[in-house]
Amino acid sequence: MLLDSLIIGGGVSGISCALVLGSAQQKNFAKDKKITIITHQKTSALQDAIFYNAYGIVPGTLGSELLHTSTAHLAESYPHITQIQNEKVIKIEGTFPEFMVTTNKSTYKTATVVIGIGSTNTFDIEGLMNYVETHQKSLPIKNRIQLRNKDHKVAEGIYVIGTLAGWRSQLAIAAGSGAAVATDLLTLWNEGEQTHAHDSIREK
Ligand SMILES: Cc1cc2nc3c(=O)[nH]c(=O)nc-3n(C[C@H](O)[C@H](O)[C@H](O)COP(=O)(O)OP(=O)(O)OC[C@H]3O[C@@H](n4cnc5c(N)ncnc54)[C@H](O)[C@@H]3O)c2cc1C
Repeated sequence: MLLDSLIIGGGVSGISCALVLGSAQQKNFAKDKKITIITHQKTSALQDAIFYNAYGIVPGTLGSELLHTSTAHLAESYPHITQIQNEKVIKIEGTFPEFMVTTNKSTYKTATVVIGIGSTNTFDIEGLMNYVETHQKSLPIKNRIQLRNKDHKVAEGIYVIGTLAGWRSQLAIAAGSGAAVATDLLTLWNEGEQTHAHDSIREK
């Protein structure tokens, strides 16, 4: 099966991207899209965080709680998005519109890939190493990396989100970055016509 999009990373940016894509399911151009997210969470920055300054999040919420509630939210609201736990991506091959993504347990074929796995310098996904560069918005002593990109686009069909896209490490920024790429994908699927995904209490 060829997926339309595979999101790699179940932290802030990855889940945010999946939620916006999931919420577009009523739109004709999005309703048949096959979307999967790899929700490996072991190395998430959320594991040790506690939040008092993130928009919409109850002050004092633990990052470790968000790892559970965010995937539960995605599963409950948008069950058509497949979540794959406990797999780590090790290789990406191919070009748009057919990539082969290899994990430690399986392989997936996808037209587009979204990478949100954080900016630590342990990054070692084969096929993407040529795009690795020094993080432009963190202290050199932290030794962070980013993937070279233009407005999140690394290459045709490859997008990077969150801190790995070169953003500073704040939850709201990472979430916004994932949401931004979701709307880029929706616009791509809408044949280039600008779009976004809103819910409203007013009748349509
Ligand atoms: C201790 C601490 C405190 C913080 N406090 C605050 C705060 O008070 N306010 C604030 O705004 N921000 C805070 N942050 C920052 C915030 O948590 C990050 O900016 C945000 O989590 C970055 O999101 P991301 O999606 O880029 O990365 P992450 O949320 O780290 O998500 C990356 C995901 O990718 C997964 N992954 C990694 N490698 C692979 C692989 N090969 N294959 C598949 N999946 C993989 C990881 O397991 C993880 O789930 C804090 C961070 C830390 C560490």
